[in-house]
Amino acid sequence: MERRFEGRVAVITGAAGGIGRAAVERFAAEGASIVAVDLPGPALEEAADLARAAGAEAIAVPADVSRAADVERYVAAARDRFGRIDAFFNNAGIEGWVGPLTMYPEDQFDRVIAVNVRGVWLGMKHVAPVMAAGGGGVIVNTASVAGLSGTPGISAYGASKHAVVGLTKTAALELAPMRIRVCAVCPAPIETRMMRALERGINPDEPEAVHQQLAGTIALGRYGEPAEVAAVVAFLCSSDASYLTGTIVPVDGGRMAR
Ligand code: NAD
Repeated sequence: MERRFEGRVAVITGAAGGIGRAAVERFAAEGASIVAVDLPGPALEEAADLARAAGAEAIAVPADVSRAADVERYVAAARDRFGRIDAFFNNAGIEGWVGPLTMYPEDQFDRVIAVNVRGVWLGMKHVAPVMAAGGGGVIVNTASVAGLSGTPGISAYGASKHAVVGLTKTAALELAPMRIRVCAVCPAPIETRMMRALERGINPDEPEAVHQQLAGTIALGRYGEPAEVAAVVAFLCSSDASYLTGTIVPVDGGRMAR
């Protein structure tokens, strides 16, 4: 494997989840020092251990990305431990409730927006100055194919991911003078806990049937693997993608080609 991030520092939120863990492994394998951010718990410590097993320096910072004080804390931890932030995978997210818009609980709507929109915005707000001070860097936000087209049953999630796409484009324009590129990935269904929860939410009796039906909407005929998203994120954060900013990248097995 290439080591495109030797001497670089990557901050990854949602690091204990499916896609985040894969990104921790990928960035560590490519030589980055890792700041793993997620809600407190053993899975977060395990993510940092994975990075160390790959030979990387790593710290785990428990944080709720929807809370400004927590975001300031993980950014300060990265700066204090490693002195800089070169890559920021702004990836933590929740799926929220599954059901009709007319019955969607207000508190669930607010929580999805708080984590998926406010959390992504707060991350960029506090990371960008540290990146700029180090001479620039790359931010990759996790949106979704649900940020590119409507998805019945997940109105808050769909709204939040469309918002991530908008935030990404705006940030790309604002931060370009600071030599910060900002892109987003839009995964189709990926084999993680989140899809298992969505499948159960859509049909609690037959989640496997939902899996088959959703896989059938994808040109390649299958869900993606977390590592397949992480590989694209690593590319976007590398100098191989030096002319990409404001770019919204479907990682979707052809889902959006329909
Ligand atoms: P996941 O549930 O495995 O991981 C999400 C991680 O985010 C978890 O570790 C969770 O603890 C963390 N998290 C949730 N709320 C948080 C908070 N307030 N503060 C800090 N951390 C928090 O799911 P995943 O599939 O790995 O999802 C990662 C990202 O990818 C999410 O933004 C999700 O919306 C997006 N996405 C996933 C899919 C998919 O099919 N799995 C498709 C498109 C987009």
